[in-house]
Amino acid sequence: MTTFVPEPHLLESPRGRAWPLLPGTAPLSPPTPTPPSTADAVVVGAGPAGLAVASALWHLGVHDIVLLDRDGRACGRFLDRIDTLKQRVLRSPYQHHPGVEGYRDCELLDFARLHWSRLTDTERREVRMAQSGHRSVVPVDVFEAYCRHVSALHHVDERIWRTTVRQVIPEGDQVTVRGAGFAVTAPYAILCLGEERKDAPAHWTDGAPLPEGVGYWDEPVPDSAESLVVVGAGLSAAHLISNGLAAGRRVHWILRADAERYQCADVNASFFRAEGRARFDGTSWADRQQLMGGQRRASVMFEFRPLLQQAEADGWLSVYRGRTVAGLEAAGVAGVAGAAGAGRAAVRLADGERITGDHVVLALGTSVSNGEALLPSWAAGTRDGWPDLDERTLAYRNAPRVLAVGAAAGMVLGPAARNIDGHRVATARVAATVAAGLEGGRLAGESLELTSTGHAAHPAEEAAVHA
Ligand SMILES: Cc1cc2nc3c(=O)[nH]c(=O)nc-3n(C[C@H](O)[C@H](O)[C@H](O)COP(=O)(O)OP(=O)(O)OC[C@H]3O[C@@H](n4cnc5c(N)ncnc54)[C@H](O)[C@@H]3O)c2cc1C
Repeated sequence: MTTFVPEPHLLESPRGRAWPLLPGTAPLSPPTPTPPSTADAVVVGAGPAGLAVASALWHLGVHDIVLLDRDGRACGRFLDRIDTLKQRVLRSPYQHHPGVEGYRDCELLDFARLHWSRLTDTERREVRMAQSGHRSVVPVDVFEAYCRHVSALHHVDERIWRTTVRQVIPEGDQVTVRGAGFAVTAPYAILCLGEERKDAPAHWTDGAPLPEGVGYWDEPVPDSAESLVVVGAGLSAAHLISNGLAAGRRVHWILRADAERYQCADVNASFFRAEGRARFDGTSWADRQQLMGGQRRASVMFEFRPLLQQAEADGWLSVYRGRTVAGLEAAGVAGVAGAAGAGRAAVRLADGERITGDHVVLALGTSVSNGEALLPSWAAGTRDGWPDLDERTLAYRNAPRVLAVGAAAGMVLGPAARNIDGHRVATARVAATVAAGLEGGRLAGESLELTSTGHAAHPAEEAAVHA
């Protein structure tokens, strides 16, 4: 039997290859510079979740949609984050792909096979691993080309407008989505907002902005930095460390946990299947919180283990395990440069030690965008940071014409909600709800029209309208 052997070279797929579009899938731009004022559905966020929702609605015959995204292209923020980290492969396997549950579209694995001639030998081996049901590693290059394919195939590109949404206002049987200089009103709005980067706790800087020489994981590391301090325990931290080592930098890694944690996917694989999701069905809020807390712990892909362990043994990487950060300081702060050597920034640990480097990067993870910033507070109904969603439809319970797909659905679908595969499950529920609601609304409208013209109220005709 072939078993999965995690090897660092799997992390090194080429990036930036040209991928030919499949016939009939040329992307088109939106027809107008600003979004139209009405639509059947507005999708806020065009990441993998928004792409899945828009594609599913297309299959269900809902074509009058408007997608609004800060970045203006399908999966733009996801790919920008990945490229800033110089991440060359996805963490999720071939089986997890943005798309539509229940429709036999060309899937990510099919797409890779169609472009066989462009794959490296290593990438071909991973495709074979996926075909034989093993865990596989997906090149970001293939994923990006596939997203472009899905987007063009389902006419999503034509419906994406680049803009920031400021407000989502549910009123009666309509929802109005507003930003600077536009408002779109539709019977349904679907929030696919993803997650925002987690900022440093205010007490690390006494409420001040980050000191000079300290940045976040989704910002570039200055070329001039010869040494790096990385705070965090997840995959972003691992990428920052391996990039630093590859560039010849000395790296310090500060972990709150007693040991780094390596695993294939960032949550236990069972949560991507129905039996994992069932662990959330009918369980108490407290039990779900506990499950989420346990499952959303930071971890690093197995492939990094040999690389990081070797760097530590060689003295290029110093790992500070089980250490708590107490503060961040710029060089020149009293005592820092003198006490801890020449460095442009320092991390002060709770035990008083200071770790200095030319640059400090904080990789503290992400927090769920629950819709609270856009919706009126009565509508979001947030509890412990999670929105109050109907378990069957993923509609906001207090505003049933607003629905959520993505990390926000975590307390209904479990930890997989924040991953590409979870979006497919959420999308199936949300798209079916929206399509059925629109159809019901149309039928009701037709029936009303017939009644108001003086005919209809005849039961046989009504039955025909509702058939
Ligand atoms: C570095 C990194 C690597 C990852 N790798 C994987 C992986 O390999 N596999 C996996 O399954 N998951 C991975 N994840 C998790 C990943 O974030 C999700 O799978 C995926 O991005 C979530 O898709 P999304 O559409 O919910 O969110 P996003 O991709 O974040 O998309 C949300 C979009 O909404 C937009 N938006 C938000 N608010 C507004 C607003 N007010 N107005 C307009 N637009 C707005 C955002 O700008 C963004 O474009 C990774 C995450 C990170 C950070």
